[in-house]
Amino acid sequence: MKEVIVTAPYQFEVTEKEIPKPEKGEVLVQMKAAGVCGSDFHLFLGENPQAVFPRVPGHENAGIIAEVGEGVTSVKKGDHVVVDLVIACGECKQCRSGRRNICETVKARGAAADGGWREYFTVPEHEVYVLPEDMPFEEAVLIEPFAIGGHCTKRADVTKEDLVLIYGSGTIGAVVLQTCKNIGCKVICADINESSLERAERYGADHIIHSGQEDLIDRISQITKGKGVDVVFDCACYPGSLTYLMKQGILTNGGRIVPLGFCTEQEQITQAMINGRELEIIGTRMSTGQFEPTITKLTNHEYQLEGMVSHYIPFTEIDKVFDNMKNPPSDMKKMVILW
Ligand SMILES: [Zn+2]
Ligand SMILES: [Zn+2]
Repeated sequence: MKEVIVTAPYQFEVTEKEIPKPEKGEVLVQMKAAGVCGSDFHLFLGENPQAVFPRVPGHENAGIIAEVGEGVTSVKKGDHVVVDLVIACGECKQCRSGRRNICETVKARGAAADGGWREYFTVPEHEVYVLPEDMPFEEAVLIEPFAIGGHCTKRADVTKEDLVLIYGSGTIGAVVLQTCKNIGCKVICADINESSLERAERYGADHIIHSGQEDLIDRISQITKGKGVDVVFDCACYPGSLTYLMKQGILTNGGRIVPLGFCTEQEQITQAMINGRELEIIGTRMSTGQFEPTITKLTNHEYQLEGMVSHYIPFTEIDKVFDNMKNPPSDMKKMVILW
């Protein structure tokens, strides 16, 4: 079998190796499709503080069970599955309270552990989720990003009474938008990219703000009659974006803000900015308990998948994926690798 290894920033190799044997409680997954995520870019470009080289990228993985190890009962050979990106101990306090995503020893596939950009790999049976046979693999790779949407909106306790601002309309912004519309709330989307804003409108955004040309705070004030929004999701996540979004005029008193990125630069947030209006800054990481409900929502066609992926690339042409990471084409939204 072939596997792709990022050996250092901007360096990758395709190597040959033996197909692994599933051990007790494990299954062998034959890859069919993998989504390429922002964090795969960060890994390859050397911007992921959690990544260790050499590393097989990829955490949005869908495939077929090719073989099962001893004692496996929950899945069988031939099942179509998606693979959880979270590797957790199952025993610590966080795991026992259902928060595997922040397990004391948590590892993410494709970052702190090897991911799915290879023909086969083994995983514990409880880290795969069975798909309906008729769900195309190129759609199934979107389950993981939509699970992120399910998780971060749950963390922020978004209800249909809320008015939400989504800052950044890339893949995660589009996912959070669709999740919020699924919950039934009103959403404002802001971005500097025209085509991302057009897509946000198609996905049901109630208002769009071209934040490169319009003043965000003025527009929010106009739309909310000076009251501000209840929840902000920062899906743009550049250094300083969190501080900017906490400025007076964006969030209402008691509002919640959820950063979705991993910027390591210092922000300029003061105690007064938080406590003057009792704002909440809510952390979110990956997802937990969201794969199964997300599979159900995709099966019921509750999300619009058209326009989420712009580039499908065969695994045999993996160099194109890395070329596109180095020099992203202007029309690129998301890449998916197909086997
Ligand atoms: Zn991802
Ligand atoms: Zn744990």
